[in-house]
Parts: sequence; structure tokens; C-alpha cells
Amino acid sequence: MINVTEPFLPPKEEYISFVNEIWNRNWLTNNGPLVNELELQLKDYLNLDHLLFVTNGTIALQLGIKALGLQGEIITTPFSYVATTSSIVWENCKPVFVDIDKDTLNLDPFLIENAITENTSAILATHVYGNPCDVEAIEAISRKHNLKVIYDGAHSFGSEYNKKSIFEWGDISTCSFHATKLFHTIEGGSVITKDPAVLKKLSFLRNFGHNGPTIFEGVGINGKNSEFHAAMGLTNIKYIDQILQKRKVDSEYYDHLLLEKLKVRRPKITEGTTVYNHSYYPIIFESEELLLRAVDELEKNRITPRRYFYPSLTELNYVEKRETPITDDISKRVLCLPLYYSITKAEIDMIVRFILRSQKYF
Ligand SMILES: *Cc1c(COP(=O)(O)O)cnc(C)c1O
Repeated sequence: MINVTEPFLPPKEEYISFVNEIWNRNWLTNNGPLVNELELQLKDYLNLDHLLFVTNGTIALQLGIKALGLQGEIITTPFSYVATTSSIVWENCKPVFVDIDKDTLNLDPFLIENAITENTSAILATHVYGNPCDVEAIEAISRKHNLKVIYDGAHSFGSEYNKKSIFEWGDISTCSFHATKLFHTIEGGSVITKDPAVLKKLSFLRNFGHNGPTIFEGVGINGKNSEFHAAMGLTNIKYIDQILQKRKVDSEYYDHLLLEKLKVRRPKITEGTTVYNHSYYPIIFESEELLLRAVDELEKNRITPRRYFYPSLTELNYVEKRETPITDDISKRVLCLPLYYSITKAEIDMIVRFILRSQKYF
């Protein structure tokens, strides 16, 4: 049985030694020392000014929307995980879908201006599969129209644009540290900003609005994370360079085996990307039929790839549909193949053999 992903598990003793510390202190949550230490180490590793560790990547998005006081319409991508859209709706804003670029699969900046109305307050774009958005074009548009920008960076831990973390961009960037993501804390996420005033707001919002025991700064929520989750992060971060390296090698191995023999294409990495994190291994088939043949053959052999992202978020029953032909087309033809730390070359060989066999007569 091979799944599209498998969580990274560090040596158990290393995690347990943090758990022993927690037992000794009897400090389980509420901004404990391990949460603080993880935030420091993440800022150091990613070279960021400010970062808050929160419950998950979805709460990170919701905190971001709330902290920036967004209202009305938010321009966003239909080619993302459902949390990108549901967070907008949850915060009582309206998602306005703009189509993606057919090569990078990220929000197409050339289509954004057409969708701006007097009710638009922000752009919420996803760095799909860890591939940076056209951040410079999006920033220029946001300045011109006085819009805020949030990046859903759930996939983009470790990706760099112009030699800096991609999380440097936007008024706020978010990340997910869910077990299936490249760097994880079991459940978890982060919000990142350069603006100290926004940081302050985020830190109140994360903790019920508390500004001291008796004073509240507006409507907050519980977005905190625990010492146990931080412990997993502190254990895993020691392995992050190995994880990133392994994914690069495995992705290149897939490329080597697949791309010459099969008419599939890979998303184009955005120009200016200095580190790509190989968060996923997506391939785009020539047709949905060919994709379905590959899925069928893999599943028959107990290998589970993932149609990610499919269907387009414009299909959700709580959003207004807009014409996004490129997303409709790509989402039917894109497939993520298994890629995770413990996958072996022999397993990749086998996966590729099944895919090639499924396409043979067409
Ligand atoms: C995983 C993911 C999220 C949600 O993160 P959680 O930590 O699972 O809440 C949001 N957006 C994208 C693009 C994701 O892949």
C-alpha cells in the first residue's frame, strides 16, 4: 500500500525527551517555553521578523483575514485546497474567483484587475505546490488599488524567491504544519507578517483577545497551539534540510523516468524562485481520460495518488461561480504522485511502471 503522502516521523526518543521536559514543568499550553522556542527557531531558519505558531493553517488564514479587517470581496484562486475559500466565507467575506496561469498554476495577475470592484478589499492567493506566485505583479496591483494581500503558503515551507523566504511577501503569509505537510507539528500552522502592528493584533486574536487577564482587545478566538505540538516541531526541524533534499532527489528521479516516455507536463516553476521545496509531485496529463487510466491502474495495485486539486473550488455549493476555464481544465488533468520522506527508489520505479503501462496503447 502506497499513499500519496506519509507523515515524517522523527526518532521517537527525541520527541520523548521533549515530553519529559513538559512533564517536569507541567506547562502544557498557553504560550509555553517550547512554543516560544519553536517560534524562535522557525524565524531563525526562515529568516523572518515575526511569526506566530497557531492551531492550524486554516485558523492562520482566518486570523489573517480578521487582523487586516477585510470586508466585502476578496479576489482568490479556485485552484487551491478548500480551506482557502472556506476561510473567506467563514469570515463573512465573498470569494471572487480569478483564473490561474496555465504554466505555474497560480493566480494569474493579468486577470486580477478585471475582477476588482469598489467592494474589493484584498487578494488571497495560494503558492500552489510551494511554487511562488507572481508576487511582484500582485504587489504592484495591490499598491495601485490599495488592496491587502494574504498568501496561503500552506505548501511553501522552505521555498525562496529572490533568495528570501516566500513568506516575506504579502501583508500576511500563512503556513500549515499539518501532518501531511513537508514540515509538520502534527496539527499546526503559522501566521507571518513584517508589520509589528499587525503582529500585535494577531497575537491578541490568537488568545481570545486577551491583553492581560482582564482587558480584551476586540473579538478573539482560541488559535493557540500546545507544548506537545511544539515539541514535534522542534524535533522535526532538525531534519528539515534532509527532508527538502530527499524530495528534490525523488522529484528529479520521477522526472527522469517519466518525462521522456510520457506526454505529461509539470507545472513551471516561477521565474525568480531560488529554492523550490518540492512540496508535491504533480503531473498534468493530456486528457482526463488518460489521467483516469493511470489512477485506475495505480489503485488496482494498491497505490493511491491524489487528484489534487480537484474539483475546482468554483464547484462549492456556497460560492458564486465565475468563468475560470483554465482551472476547470487543469483540475481535471492534474495528478499528484506519491512523494514523502520514506519513499524508496524501488517504489518510484514501480509507480512509474504502472503509469507507463496504463498509457501504453493510447
Ligand atoms: C493544508 C492546507 C490548508 C489548511 O491547513 P490545515 O493546517 O490543515 O488547517 C490551507 N490551504 C492549503 C492550500 C492547504 O494545502
